[in-house]
Amino acid sequence: MTPAVRTRQSGRLCIDAMLTGGEGPALARLERWRDPSELSSWLAECPLAVPDASATDADLVRGRALRWSIWHAVNAAVRGEPPAAHDAAVIEDAAAAPPLVPTLAGGWRTPTAAAALSTIARDAIDLLSDPAQRARLRVCAAPDCPVPFYDDSRPGTRRWCEPGRCGDRTRQRAHRARRKEQP
Ligand SMILES: [Zn+2]
Repeated sequence: MTPAVRTRQSGRLCIDAMLTGGEGPALARLERWRDPSELSSWLAECPLAVPDASATDADLVRGRALRWSIWHAVNAAVRGEPPAAHDAAVIEDAAAAPPLVPTLAGGWRTPTAAAALSTIARDAIDLLSDPAQRARLRVCAAPDCPVPFYDDSRPGTRRWCEPGRCGDRTRQRAHRARRKEQP
């Protein structure tokens, strides 16, 4: 059994979704959405906290296509380029579905996986269509982590895709290297 990869908490919903897996060895290793029930569990654990999304096979196919297009569009934005037409279409199609509707009591009104995917796609559009937010996309400073993230720090000086993950790891490595240098 593959050990469960914990849910990413990058501070930005569409980026968390984008890092649940994908094509290519680096992202495939992270795969969190292996079947519809895993997509449902992720939706419960992610910042949306959607209980019982009851994702279907079709939701899984659409969700995987959405996260992959978000990955490409975000990487294009980091390079200062617009998204490819195909990626823009996939994200806009997902956003065209009705999104999650909040209730006065908290939580969502009859939440579905399709609605959650629409909310994720709308977050990506919010991010990628706003020059000020686009300017806060950066690539993680860890040498072995090619992951883009959204810098939500007030001064705009965040360096790591996830401070508790790559920041700690890089500091520990630097610490070990320093200890080795000592006689
Ligand atoms: Zn990182």
